Amino acid sequence: MTTAHEAPETQHRRAHKSRAQLADGREIIFFDDAPRTRTVQDRREITRPEGGNEMRYDPLLREWVAIAAARQHRTHLPSSDQCPLCPTTEDRASEVPQAEYDVVVFENRFPSFRGDVPVPGDFLSTTTAAAESAGIRQHGSGRCEVVCFTDDHTSQLAQVSAERMRTVVDAWADRSEAMLAEPGVEQVYCFENRGEEIGVTLHHPHGQIYGYPFITPRTRTLLESAADYRERRGADLFADILAAEVSDGRRIVARTEHWTAFIPAWARWPVELHIYPHRAVERLPELTGAERDDFAALYLDLLQRGDQLFDGPLPYISGWQQAPASAEPGLMRLHLQLFSIRRAENKLKFLAGSESGMGVFINDIAPEDMARRLVDLGAGSADADAAGADSAEPSTDAEPPIDAEPPTDAEPHTEETR
Ligand SMILES: [Zn+2]
Repeated sequence: MTTAHEAPETQHRRAHKSRAQLADGREIIFFDDAPRTRTVQDRREITRPEGGNEMRYDPLLREWVAIAAARQHRTHLPSSDQCPLCPTTEDRASEVPQAEYDVVVFENRFPSFRGDVPVPGDFLSTTTAAAESAGIRQHGSGRCEVVCFTDDHTSQLAQVSAERMRTVVDAWADRSEAMLAEPGVEQVYCFENRGEEIGVTLHHPHGQIYGYPFITPRTRTLLESAADYRERRGADLFADILAAEVSDGRRIVARTEHWTAFIPAWARWPVELHIYPHRAVERLPELTGAERDDFAALYLDLLQRGDQLFDGPLPYISGWQQAPASAEPGLMRLHLQLFSIRRAENKLKFLAGSESGMGVFINDIAPEDMARRLVDLGAGSADADAAGADSAEPSTDAEPPIDAEPPTDAEPHTEETR
């Protein structure tokens, strides 16, 4: 199985892509910082694990649950000489049949979703109708990929060069476009789990890309909120949130030419960064080269600040919100959400009774305080100075650009009404 170098397909992508197949038929795609030709030969004798994947519909919450029993047997925290994401050596064949690589993407051997799994719909007679109203596509059941950010097992994404970070952005954008074009994929989510506290099973610096066969509950709610806001106010909810945060200024962590990073007023996690592009784009492939370069530098800066917050690297989950395939054009704004369960040295935020049982979050840290800490960690940098100078004064606008109060049907009970 050999592969030739492919020329960049879009004017926005700079990374150089080449494609091959692993021994069990899974696709593997290399994204190189500079042009090169790779010859790929996977010498393993492996087959894809069969069975164990199923999707079931919860008619109470009207949400899908993936049953992926094969994942129970996947590799768990192997030693570095057994890492499946490290390059292949003379002695050991890994998932990446190359002696070195820059960024590589391949189909997950133990996927949560995969394309050849039928969607069952027979538990309740209402299931199929409810699924249709939730926007599910009936054919195929998604796809899961692994993204390795570097071939250096001991590195971290926060430590890669800006050039490599740009290659990662290009890989995310490329895969988002390709996966969204597949018939069984409704929404693409590029994300990274970092840290044993988050539950990673491999230490090697890597992320994942899920092609969900349906619109996820969080995205469905975001789209409904944006549609409702546009109907009532005739405006873009995401643009108004960004404008309100910039106007207030207390939760802005960094601003660059093309991006703003802030902690939303309603942050539910101890550390929760939202990074919005200034231009209204819905998906990663739409980002220009300048926007990608700008993001790469900003993101590395923010990851490095995060690692200085507590003693040791910050455990985090970071992922991109993008418009699903069937979303109404113009409703979604692409943005990244990064959050951590660490709230202090040696203290983690657990999703306990209220959060896990009822979905009501209790944040132990005021978003304004965490934003100030992150700004101070960037002190001296142009970004931090710019953010402060831009927006030190709270807004005195007579009319706030976004709803200051939740809708009446969502009002919390006060002492008098309880
Ligand atoms: Zn490794």
